[in-house]
Amino acid sequence: MDTEALFRVAAAEAARYRNSVPDRPHRPVRGYAESLAAFSEPLPVEACEPEAVIADLVSRAEAGLHLMVGPRFFGWVIGGSHPAGVAADMLTSAWGQNAGNHVAAPSASAVETVAARWLLELLDLPRESSVGFVTGATIANFTCLAAARGAVLRRVGWDPDANGLFGAPPVSVLIGDDAHTTVFSALQYLGLGHDRVVRLPTDREGRIRPDAFAALMAAIEGPCIVILQAGQINSGAFDDFSTLVPIARERGAWIHVDGAFGLWAQVTPALRHLSRGVDLADSWATDGHKWLQTPYDCGYAIVRDEAAHRRAMTIAASYLPTASMGERDPSHYVPELSRRARGFATWAMIKHLGREGIARMVERNCRAAAALAEALGQHPDIAVINSVDLNQMIIRFGASLEPERGDRLTRAVIAAIQEEGEIFTGGAEWRGLQVMRLSISNYQTDEVEAERAATAIKQALDRVKALGGE
Ligand SMILES: *Cc1c(COP(=O)(O)O)cnc(C)c1O
Repeated sequence: MDTEALFRVAAAEAARYRNSVPDRPHRPVRGYAESLAAFSEPLPVEACEPEAVIADLVSRAEAGLHLMVGPRFFGWVIGGSHPAGVAADMLTSAWGQNAGNHVAAPSASAVETVAARWLLELLDLPRESSVGFVTGATIANFTCLAAARGAVLRRVGWDPDANGLFGAPPVSVLIGDDAHTTVFSALQYLGLGHDRVVRLPTDREGRIRPDAFAALMAAIEGPCIVILQAGQINSGAFDDFSTLVPIARERGAWIHVDGAFGLWAQVTPALRHLSRGVDLADSWATDGHKWLQTPYDCGYAIVRDEAAHRRAMTIAASYLPTASMGERDPSHYVPELSRRARGFATWAMIKHLGREGIARMVERNCRAAAALAEALGQHPDIAVINSVDLNQMIIRFGASLEPERGDRLTRAVIAAIQEEGEIFTGGAEWRGLQVMRLSISNYQTDEVEAERAATAIKQALDRVKALGGE
């Protein structure tokens, strides 16, 4: 096998794909059923040369790829897998480091130590915090909430990490009604239950209502975890940390923040008023593969109390931090032992963009969102539902129509947009109504792309109306 030739083929294919982004539609050419058919064959019995395997993979996969790296992909909060991160990630795979432990994998461990420091500085979170490099915000939330669960129960004399939850004092979990669905999943994995929580009422942007929060907190006794949010998935809204955190703190609660994308408002002075007070919390979950543009999979579990973080995640029975805190084992902060060396891509993205570059990118995306909202808001049949302060937007068509007809029209416009492929957006339900949602989180998306998107959306609406769709 000619390794160099093989790697060259893969790199050339990767470059060809990325260079062709401007010419590709923002939708898969082929759906799941046909993709399944394209891959389906009996279990291979005989060997096949790697070059042929890669050529075959490309030819089978390409038509079913969604242009998630494209500048007008607004479907979900998806980062652009920036080439600098992708290149570092290729090396990560080639180097084959099992990044669990600093003795086994010195560079992979050291790069995480440095990238962790950089992340705390970028996000301006307490510098004593520990950072686990995980697969994404779902597992970051899980990891942080595991630390929370242990800490609040140990305060009342129960160690759930050693003894589990059977017989433990009850833990109250308070969470906003508009929290991301994966936070409920994290609670489910932790034995805290996704339905056992106290759901906090929210305002029209999805923010926890401070009055209701104070009233509910006053009734809380015993161990308590409060889950707040930086960046609601539809509206982009932030909970009012400066007001809520002190109330929760007074009751001795552990305060966790899901900031999968919104925590990145911290990197730019222009947006920091949105996340004010977020640093007062105890733990934070965020993603690298969203606004930092690392390739998938990459998220960060950040915990102020390093000992609680380690106790929740340490794989051996030795709960206590090692004497030498100068050496960091990546696996002590995450659920996995064998794991990808995620620090390399994170390091490469921060090194490439720098703090200024990251701030400019976040601002550029937010300006694009504001421009798009402005352009669409002027149209008589389009209503922008949320206050577009960040990168998220929810839109409804036929705002003057009765609800069911507006729902139908909105669904029809989304379908027309997806059919055409100039941009990609999806739908959601918000306050009982069908909406179209847009997330602007790709490093390439600026106001020029926003203008193209506004035109595409208005044209889709016109096409639907011309076909008699309201
Ligand atoms: C994306 C997202 C998550 C889940 O993160 P993954 O990286 O997909 O695991 C959680 N919360 C919010 C607000 C998100 O946007």
